[in-house]
Amino acid sequence: MKTIDELLRQGVEGKRVFVRADLNVPQDGTTITDDGRIRAVLPTVKALTEAGAKVVVASHLGRPKGEPDPAFTLRFAASRLGELLGRPVAFAGDTIGSEAHAAVAALGNGEVAVLENLRFHPGETSKDPAERAELAARLAAFADVYVGDGFGAVHRQHASVFELPRLMPQYAGYLIVTEVGVLKKLTDDVKRPYVVVLGGAKVSDKLGVIDHLLEKADRILIGGGMAYTFLKAKGHEVGISLLQEDQVPACLEYLARAEKKGVEFVLPVDVLVSAEFPDLKTKAPAHPTLVASSAIPADQEGLDIGPETRKLYASKLADAATVFWNGPMGVFEHPDYAEGTKAVAQALVDSPAFTVVGGGDSAAAVRTLGFDENAFGHISTGGGASLEYLEGKTLPGLAALED
Ligand code: ADP
Ligand code: MG
Repeated sequence: MKTIDELLRQGVEGKRVFVRADLNVPQDGTTITDDGRIRAVLPTVKALTEAGAKVVVASHLGRPKGEPDPAFTLRFAASRLGELLGRPVAFAGDTIGSEAHAAVAALGNGEVAVLENLRFHPGETSKDPAERAELAARLAAFADVYVGDGFGAVHRQHASVFELPRLMPQYAGYLIVTEVGVLKKLTDDVKRPYVVVLGGAKVSDKLGVIDHLLEKADRILIGGGMAYTFLKAKGHEVGISLLQEDQVPACLEYLARAEKKGVEFVLPVDVLVSAEFPDLKTKAPAHPTLVASSAIPADQEGLDIGPETRKLYASKLADAATVFWNGPMGVFEHPDYAEGTKAVAQALVDSPAFTVVGGGDSAAAVRTLGFDENAFGHISTGGGASLEYLEGKTLPGLAALED
């Protein structure tokens, strides 16, 4: 993989450089609630502007349906990028239309323009390679060189990630270099004990990684929504909790394999339950009930790990040398269900281990719950991307940078 340093050595003064960033930040209306992903691309954009490049930044935001949708505009992310860079950033109100052409044509050396959301075009995420190639060709008209730095999207076979870099000289930006370096430390020569904490809501996305981690980790702690499919596999009733019934056999197989391999597999012993999902807007008190994880009432759902589990997980993290954490332990967006996630974050902060946090919501949780991000070894900007890397899969966006 050629890196941006090589590009800078060759000189980029006056060259148009297309930076595929990941500005997919959580927003509440017009307010960006966590700008971590924007800050993560600053080293690359700064280096290019300081070297006199004309920088064209493109990204996706959310999941618009292949057509312009004001709810998913990149306008606010672009203006935050400008604030953080301390220089004006032009924003094109379309992706490949007249505004984009005008914004790119107007770029002076060392200036930056952000294009509107790539996913406003069906070609970005299309399953049809010809449709993706067509969008890639139109994007290619904007630049002489490609810098891939949208780590959060490298597991996607999308036009701007997979097809576009093949149309011009391509380099990896600083964020991708850093992310891949960290993930290598979790796969080659990992320092032990290696403890993995998994939670969150995307159960089916995350079960796959367990298959691979059973070969690598010494201990796996499960929380969040995926805990209930495992509890069900152990024969417990889980009420109306998140459950993937079809994955119960896979969970049983994982539990058996962990036992055979001597991998410690730890499930919650107590959970906070309620008959209702909490109101995340008003944050009205939720009044959860604490129950043993083997005694979840039929009409209730588990929404966080309980205090015994918090203590247990902290103790299981205390002697770790390497920790990978993906997925909140509960519905941390509501203060009544944030304690489990806080306890895991605190255990990582207190640990001398090399600690890696992956996942958009996990990273946002760490920051919004008030932890100092410098207290962690690394906070990854990519959840799905880091999981697929750990699964040993080939990531299309990294493969495209290898060519
Ligand atoms: P990440 O983005 O870190 O990979 P996910 O997207 O998988 O994490 O999951 C984050 C979401 O999981 C959060 O919005 C949180 O509210 C939700 N969540 C955590 N635990 C539960 C649970 N027990 N039931 C329902 N949702 C949960
Ligand atoms: Mg998420």
